[in-house]
Amino acid sequence: MADDADGNRGAGGDFAWALSAAPVQDYLERLHAELAGIDGGALADYIPELTRADRGWFGIALATVDGHVYQAGDSRQPFTVQSISKAIAYGLALEDHGLDAVLAKVGVEPSGEAFNSISLEPATGRPLNPMINAGAIATTALVRDDQEPALSRLLATFARYTGRHMGLDEAVFASERETGHRNRAIAHLLRGYGILERSPEEATDLYFQQCAIRVTARDLALMGACLANGGVNPVTGVVALKRRYVDKLLAVMSTCGMYDYSGGWIFNVGMPAKSGVGGGIMAVLPGQFGLGVFSPLLDSKGNSVRGIAACERISRDFGLHMFNVARATSATVLRRSYDCRRVRSRRGRSAAELAVLDAEGGRIR
Ligand code: GLU
Repeated sequence: MADDADGNRGAGGDFAWALSAAPVQDYLERLHAELAGIDGGALADYIPELTRADRGWFGIALATVDGHVYQAGDSRQPFTVQSISKAIAYGLALEDHGLDAVLAKVGVEPSGEAFNSISLEPATGRPLNPMINAGAIATTALVRDDQEPALSRLLATFARYTGRHMGLDEAVFASERETGHRNRAIAHLLRGYGILERSPEEATDLYFQQCAIRVTARDLALMGACLANGGVNPVTGVVALKRRYVDKLLAVMSTCGMYDYSGGWIFNVGMPAKSGVGGGIMAVLPGQFGLGVFSPLLDSKGNSVRGIAACERISRDFGLHMFNVARATSATVLRRSYDCRRVRSRRGRSAAELAVLDAEGGRIR
């Protein structure tokens, strides 16, 4: 496949897929067949149960904001979500407590370090960001459990993103619980600093459970599509995440989502994303689609080898880097800003409606 003079890659081979009746589907199938031959990388083994994965598993799914889902390969093979859950839990913690309260406990700076590093601010013990384990344990511990157990709320939240009932892989949970001493040590440190208000054991159990939620590449594509679609599931119409937190979540995914490859990833692929050591990658092209790729062979930084290859190719073949904005569409979007306290529609309103607009209209822009 050749690059053109501007360095844009052509969209592949003989272009037969582009002329077909189902070009996206055909493209994904061809890409899948091409990349399935990559066999570098290794299964994660620090959670022993993860070594039971089949090295050949490879699924790709893409879900658009208008609700179309395209899939190739093992896109319905369940695996554990692992670190991708950090994104979903962060969104839920933001909904539970608001930005300031969550920021008081977990920062938003990339650490440039491995996922399991002890990246805490020296003076406060605040983890650098919610996508590394330290920050994720602190975030998960923020999920409210006063009305309903936190795990049920996490599962229900996942279900809003995926549109289906979600469950745990109990064997992977037990395996991580048995061996997760480093995460438990991090939780104790967080407790020592007062970042964690739950007991470290309770926090890590919940975190290990959240990591053991079973998903498929198709689920990841839908989860990404919700984030691409302002927080609304494009298939079910259900709100997965309140719109006002979507940009915040995508921002930390952009800067911190791919472990210590986050800089290289955003440089090469240009989409907010999160990966997990189960072999999944969830990527988001805001306003367009969510992409889910699953293949359990990981590179030295913990990212799926075929997953990275697939995302790089899709981005490059179609010029999808989020900063690659065509000049024709880059006219200033924001020209003037009004709120509904100052400017009203001409529709007749009841006194009660007018009172609500007086009180809340400042929030509508
Ligand atoms: N449960 C895993 C851990 O905390 C998740 C790691 C990951 O997917 O990066 O070690």
